[in-house]
Amino acid sequence: MHELGITQSVVEAVTCRTGSARVACVRVRVGRLAGVVPDAMRFCFELVTAGTPLEGADLEIEQPDGRGHCRACGAEFPLDDLILLCDCGSADVDVLSGRELAVASVVLSGSAT
Ligand SMILES: [Zn+2]
Repeated sequence: MHELGITQSVVEAVTCRTGSARVACVRVRVGRLAGVVPDAMRFCFELVTAGTPLEGADLEIEQPDGRGHCRACGAEFPLDDLILLCDCGSADVDVLSGRELAVASVVLSGSAT
């Protein structure tokens, strides 16, 4: 389950900036092509944050759709998975988005949002 390592990195990146401040919510952006299962990530988040200032924080996962660009015919189209195949039959497809994995924002406890 590689979500564990990814989630650990996310939690480390957050605590690196927020220190000992209590965190109420972490929003992450995980592209549909990033190969991360959101439910698995939520499960790992609970494990990884136990005993840290992030314990009990909500994890919100945004999943932007993937987009591909065909180098053969120039078409742009949505990508639901990593099968990179254009309708024209070409597999010479660039992934424009959908592989991102980033912390979008962090809400600290007690801050008014
Ligand atoms: Zn094409």
